[in-house]
Amino acid sequence: MRVAFFGGTFDPIHRGHLRLASAAADAFALDRVLFAPVGNQPLKAESAVASFADRLEMARLACNPAPLQPTTSNQQPATDPRFAVSTLDAPRADGTPNYTVDSLAALARELPSASLYVLTGADSFLDLGRWRSPDRLLELAEWIVVSRPDFPLSESQLAPLALTPAQRARVHLLTTVNEEVSATDLRRRLQVGDPCHGLLPPGVASYIQSHHLYR
Ligand code: ATP
Repeated sequence: MRVAFFGGTFDPIHRGHLRLASAAADAFALDRVLFAPVGNQPLKAESAVASFADRLEMARLACNPAPLQPTTSNQQPATDPRFAVSTLDAPRADGTPNYTVDSLAALARELPSASLYVLTGADSFLDLGRWRSPDRLLELAEWIVVSRPDFPLSESQLAPLALTPAQRARVHLLTTVNEEVSATDLRRRLQVGDPCHGLLPPGVASYIQSHHLYR
């Protein structure tokens, strides 16, 4: 079983996240992608805007839209059956940050026979030097790093990370994704009443409207 951990703020989850996940699942024959909203992101200066509960629910809606009656005309497109939501990165009782190395170690204990992968956008991975325990992170899982506009992804971009040959062999670059969308931009647009059609899964867009998020 090939299982990928996909952590992020998901504030809100958007088309870029889903496209990254499905492209990686196709290219690397992943059986499962676990979307894990983070409670307390150690590397972002500002905390998330929406609560963890709202971000988790939006991720759930993106992965499993509510089942619809056969007669309903407003059908939501079915999402990828490989997608699931995980609470591995839920906020800790003592308020300390969620480190991916701890979440991955927990996942490895939970699924001892699985091959573990981490999904990440190019911008996050190129920052690996700031993550806690990069060597251990590369031991615990193979990494699938996905292209993102404005963040070129090539061998020369990886050079500052000084990966050993063995580590480099565990990092896979997927350069076919080109999704010009970020949660920061979406929050700005939602704040001024733009429904951001086409950039948010329909269930997520409805949830944001009905819960008055990002206003
Ligand atoms: P923000 O703008 O608030 O930083 P974000 O969408 O960039 O939001 P996260 O929700 O934390 O940030 O992203 C989770 C992961 O998804 C990260 O690894 C990020 O690099 C990746 N990602 C987000 N948007 C894209 C995109 N458009 N293309 C490729 N990867 C993306």
